[in-house]
Amino acid sequence: MLPLGPQKSLIVASNRLPFVLERDASGEWRIEPGSGGLVTALVPVLRDRGGIWIGWPGSVESDEGDIEQILERATRRSPYQVRPVPLTEEERDNFYYGFSNEIIWPLFHDFQTLCTFDPEYWKAYEAVNRKFARVIAAASRPDDLIWVHDYHLMSVACELRCLGISSRMGFFLHIPFPPVDLYVKLPWRLAILSALLDYDLIGFQAQRDRRNFIHCLRALVKNVKIEGRGRVLTALVGDRKVRLGVFPISMDFQAFARDAASEDVTRRCQQLRADLPDRQLILGVDRLDYTKGIPDKLKEFRHALIRFPELRERVTLVQVVVPSREEIPEYYDLKTEIEQLVGRINGEFTQPGWIPIQYVYRSWERNELLAYYRAAEIALVTPLKDGMNLVAKEYCACRIDESGVLILSEFAGAASQLAEGALLVNPYDVYRVSDAIYRAFTMSAEERRSRMRKLRSTIARYDIFWWVDAFLKAEVGLDTSERVSG
Ligand code: UDP
Repeated sequence: MLPLGPQKSLIVASNRLPFVLERDASGEWRIEPGSGGLVTALVPVLRDRGGIWIGWPGSVESDEGDIEQILERATRRSPYQVRPVPLTEEERDNFYYGFSNEIIWPLFHDFQTLCTFDPEYWKAYEAVNRKFARVIAAASRPDDLIWVHDYHLMSVACELRCLGISSRMGFFLHIPFPPVDLYVKLPWRLAILSALLDYDLIGFQAQRDRRNFIHCLRALVKNVKIEGRGRVLTALVGDRKVRLGVFPISMDFQAFARDAASEDVTRRCQQLRADLPDRQLILGVDRLDYTKGIPDKLKEFRHALIRFPELRERVTLVQVVVPSREEIPEYYDLKTEIEQLVGRINGEFTQPGWIPIQYVYRSWERNELLAYYRAAEIALVTPLKDGMNLVAKEYCACRIDESGVLILSEFAGAASQLAEGALLVNPYDVYRVSDAIYRAFTMSAEERRSRMRKLRSTIARYDIFWWVDAFLKAEVGLDTSERVSG
């Protein structure tokens, strides 16, 4: 059991509640519990400690009472309570689509040119963070631990302090923190930095992100002193003492490994392999997003086919693109670009009995994904920038026979943990990536095994349960001064 102290409940706040709420064809509300790694890891803590999850239910209907009732009914038997933060359509547009996804998301992933610095977005961001703070203040007791997640809610602690709440508050940033030269472009750079300093603990995915944050503090805030070493440092800023930790997020390694070995997945994997005799399967799995570098990856695969003709008819790239934010023009254009590239490359290289790229534009059932993880000799994970990248870790967890090669972008947060076993590449370097594809294709079985063993051992040790534990220990001020492995 986590040493949080006898009375401390956990209050979790994230932009979205861990439920999917939507109307079915007959207009009735349907609610499905969320199933991601974060939910899996937090449920046991919330169950043992008692706790509340606070977030936006994802709907903008004015029927708040209705939604509250549905949530209340759906969570009656849940191990934790739920409090919705309703948003109006305008708030959703300016806070969520606007400030969060047209400013912070691109800027923090180094895509400054895609930012729209609209002051109306900032007003909405402040207002919605205040709204979250009011719901948290009403739901929490002085002794509770408050854990706020991600870039939508960076100002919540500041708003809570204004309401006189003095509980311990932690924040985890799931996306990267940008270098200072990019961060200073943000018109509200000082407001956000100061707001973050109202947390007691700020968690980052990788050392890279914490280092950037400290550079920003030094550039924009006076009298900053950094103390300590290892996983958790302390920043002394005026009279504030804020802990800065590195906690690379992960997934439930054992569950992935166990499910990958199940009968269903094994059967499906055998079928996939039988469909590709004498051929290596290269797998790409990415959400539709410009940060994932999908067009670059396709061009690099084409380059590999040109430079290394022996790859032709001997490899198949299965590229899954999971639909996301299609209503936004940039995302729609990206989808069109990907489809044109796939068409062009297949048109250029296809032979009777061999199509170089199999393109899938939909979300897969979990077992289908696991079967592909198990069947693919090579995973090609080349985001241009990524907070962590769980696909890379899930792929390794499912390699229960300890084979398989992971080609991984240096700019994924996961690279700092997985540098030893993966083939690291600069995703902008077409020669480096095509070399890595060829190297993976020709790698000996022993080298594959030795690399995959290292990868699996790191991922098994630093799994999602380790992550929750390490963050919460640091939040209550326990020493977590181990050496940072990621
Ligand atoms: N995923 C999924 N369905 C699919 C393909 C992927 O649910 O058809 C999941 C995958 O298992 C992983 C997540 O989507 O947990 C992607 O996480 P990642 O950190 O790689 O990228 P993100 O989309 O969060 O930026």
